[in-house]
Amino acid sequence: MRVPLLDLSEQYRALAEPIRAQLEEVLGSQSFILGPKVEAFEEAIGRYCGAPNAIGVSSGTDALLAILMALEIGPGDAVITSAYSFFATGGCIARVGATPIFIDIDPETYNISPAALERYLTTSCRPNKDGALLSPQGTTVRAIVPVHLFGLCCEMDAIHRISEQFQLDVIEDAAQAIGAECSFGGVTAKAGAMGEVSCFSFYPSKNLGAAGDAGMVICRDDALAQRLRSCRQHGMEPRYYHHFIGGNFRLDEIQAAILGVKLPFLDGWSAARRVVADFYREEFKRLGLTNQFSIPAEPYRNLGLTNHHIYHQYAVRTPQRDGLREHLTRKEIGTAIYYPLALHEQECFSYLGYRAGDFPEAERAARETLALPMYPELPRESQRYVAEAIAEFFA
Ligand SMILES: *Cc1c(COP(=O)(O)O)cnc(C)c1O
Repeated sequence: MRVPLLDLSEQYRALAEPIRAQLEEVLGSQSFILGPKVEAFEEAIGRYCGAPNAIGVSSGTDALLAILMALEIGPGDAVITSAYSFFATGGCIARVGATPIFIDIDPETYNISPAALERYLTTSCRPNKDGALLSPQGTTVRAIVPVHLFGLCCEMDAIHRISEQFQLDVIEDAAQAIGAECSFGGVTAKAGAMGEVSCFSFYPSKNLGAAGDAGMVICRDDALAQRLRSCRQHGMEPRYYHHFIGGNFRLDEIQAAILGVKLPFLDGWSAARRVVADFYREEFKRLGLTNQFSIPAEPYRNLGLTNHHIYHQYAVRTPQRDGLREHLTRKEIGTAIYYPLALHEQECFSYLGYRAGDFPEAERAARETLALPMYPELPRESQRYVAEAIAEFFA
């Protein structure tokens, strides 16, 4: 049996008609960039996430880049993030001329460890006479980028407390976590609505995927939102007058129209992903496998939240990861490694001077995690086949 890592064709077939109608409408209107479809989708995302401002952009990467540019983070500044994420999180910090500072992860959740973050800020950084926080390298620490990896929110209460104490902006990288919830300040909050400003990606394989590249920024502050709107059009306001340097980070109508059709189904898809995760757990238990490898933690499961996890990825962990992967490949089961290297181990970041062993948990996760097939329509017989193939490997 062939089991792909991800297969969204059934999802597309179910929505093909309304999506095609939207395409017809956009093509007929000949309005392709930042038109009514983008506006409607921005409003829908703002409402969905509980954020007063939503700014459609060209990708998740461009969302992060635009955020850093709009906050005027650049040379001499430093931004803290997780050592274990997709490259864009670190790459954007470096692209604006700032210095990425990596922090190790919590081995249970794979998200940035608030304890490690606090230890770094307390023991390695010091305030200067103007109250700015200086890193050991002398850069000004401006912001923290928590990444809600695999669809699970970071410990945002702890991160918020730390960011308040050290007066740092919180920029959520919610690219993998649209709709994910956690408890924040005693109430339920959605990923992206807890920091000053946040990014989403609608890359086709994300939980809410476009038919190409697309992204979104959401933020609380109206002035920052205005600046971001301007930033996505080269810092232009009005036309051909440029107050600062931005880029072409625009979202196009076709992507916004398609995403607008899909958004109402997102919560149903997330629920279906949780059902898949529950069935994996049952099968792994039934086969006596849960001592052989670890399955994803669900730290918020008992808080009464709906989207306590949205399972963008279902990552298991074992020291025998590479062998298991080979075995599953032979069985025609799709798997992926997110990510084979921690960010501080990437060649392009060698100039930062990190060494192997600096972030042991991020490095271990990069060696041991394996993403199994996960999508809302994944059939139970496929899941049984995956579980049995894993049992065969460990037998
Ligand atoms: C996908 C992703 C991004 C970048 O989004 P793109 O739309 O691919 O540019 C950034 N951060 C994380 C954690 C991601 O998973």
